[in-house]
Amino acid sequence: MNDAATGSSPPRAVNPVLSDVVHTFGQAMLQRYGERVHKLAINARFTCPNRDGSRGTGGCSFCNNASFSPNAKHPPPIREQIEAGRRILRRRTGARKFIAYFQAYSNTYAELAVLRQLYEQALQEPDVIGLSVGTRPDCVDTDVLDLLADYRAQGYEVWLELGLQSAFDDTLQRVNRGHGLAEYRATVTAARARGLQVCTHLILGLPGESEAHWRTSLDTVLDLGVDGLKLHPLHVVRHTLLAHQWRRGDYRPLSQAEYVNAAASLIQRTPSDVVFHRVTATAAADILLAPTWCARKWTVLNAIRRQLTAVV
Ligand code: SF4
Repeated sequence: MNDAATGSSPPRAVNPVLSDVVHTFGQAMLQRYGERVHKLAINARFTCPNRDGSRGTGGCSFCNNASFSPNAKHPPPIREQIEAGRRILRRRTGARKFIAYFQAYSNTYAELAVLRQLYEQALQEPDVIGLSVGTRPDCVDTDVLDLLADYRAQGYEVWLELGLQSAFDDTLQRVNRGHGLAEYRATVTAARARGLQVCTHLILGLPGESEAHWRTSLDTVLDLGVDGLKLHPLHVVRHTLLAHQWRRGDYRPLSQAEYVNAAASLIQRTPSDVVFHRVTATAAADILLAPTWCARKWTVLNAIRRQLTAVV
């Protein structure tokens, strides 16, 4: 899954597709740093409490961690991942500053000393100006929050990315998420009390949900306070329970039009100071089963932009 980041020096809009109608992450970084800042995805070999038995087994019904990264099974050392990522991103985007995005699995799921060592492997790179740490809301101790707040106090750009997906406990139970809204509420409150920026992930199209659910989930997240959002359609990927449900005809993925309309409407509903880190996403081509339209990321982004422009 890729994040569209924008920025350049001298400042200019780098994502002309969206940044004139959506407050994108790239635009926010450009305003803050005066140049491109790009997220660099890292797989630090974490696992997940919803897979190893401490919260549950089997994981979320839609999760295949190969969708996180091409190096999902045997990731190289963090330093090598940064070197490879920066080479590509420099060439493709001109970015000279990066945020290490700890993406795969639950990136706060280890002893504090281990976390510190992993995060600081990234922060010691001179062009890495911060961290974005993706995790579950029930997997973030106060020690970890204090550590991240300390990086923030040192001047690093720090984001905690919390996968909530839905604010409805019955939906979260249906997809075997292993946590509810209460854990999210506790973690987002504790994180923001420490001055940490929180980016919350929401999925549109979870089984049993409709547009009314997505609106309520967004409103709940906004009411609790949030600095950033990621939206994406639910992907059906190989080797998941959801893939079986889809093959049996028990799950119908969203159409592109349904997703575009809903995403545009949620974006409109969101205050302009909240930063959109992502408004769509796809999974790796070799595991994506449905919906196939989400693989055409720029088509989806253009459609969302058109929809927003039409209603502005
Ligand atoms: S919490 Fe994340 S990593 Fe764990 S099973 Fe669910 S989607 Fe996968």
